[in-house]
Amino acid sequence: MASPPIVNVGYRSTNVWVIGAGDARLLVDLGWIGMLGALEHELRRKDIPLTAIRAGFATHYHIDHAGCAEDLKGRGMALWVFEEQVPHIEGMARWVKPGEAYTPIRTEGNVVLRCADSRARLAALGIAGEVVPTPGHSPCSVSLVLDGGACFTGDLTLESMIGDEDPAVVRASWDRLRALGARTVYPGHVSPYPIPTP
Ligand SMILES: [Zn+2]
Repeated sequence: MASPPIVNVGYRSTNVWVIGAGDARLLVDLGWIGMLGALEHELRRKDIPLTAIRAGFATHYHIDHAGCAEDLKGRGMALWVFEEQVPHIEGMARWVKPGEAYTPIRTEGNVVLRCADSRARLAALGIAGEVVPTPGHSPCSVSLVLDGGACFTGDLTLESMIGDEDPAVVRASWDRLRALGARTVYPGHVSPYPIPTP
């Protein structure tokens, strides 16, 4: 499989990545709460029909990364939830401010997956790669690593920027990505950069 196209349809300083081509694309991260309209606008600008987004997942369940999950399910996207993430979905609502439009994520219809099964799921979309747990920024963080070397890390903390995080946990997550051959980081909020060496 050739390296799939990668398009950023993010808004409000938060990246939302579309991976793949044709009518079988994957969304990595799902936009800010209550802002499906902004996401649809960006998709239109980049000439990607929402119906081409077959599946999507959040790198972690924070309101700027998983906010439109339920809205997107309503538009036909299969929501992949990795087993590590299941216990953390409900807690996201805590960060929603009164008056903010948020569609709570329901359990119904979610496609709960083990990371170990991600390669087969991705292959069905024509994407060669796998999803691995990368805790550090949050316990529910996962990253996608494409066989071509691109990795999608959400907010995984850089080892050089560790604050409250457990340095050993963060280091192990980056080591896991490096071991899988990750070369370029497609992060949650800034432009892509080469994966840092340990
Ligand atoms: Zn976050």
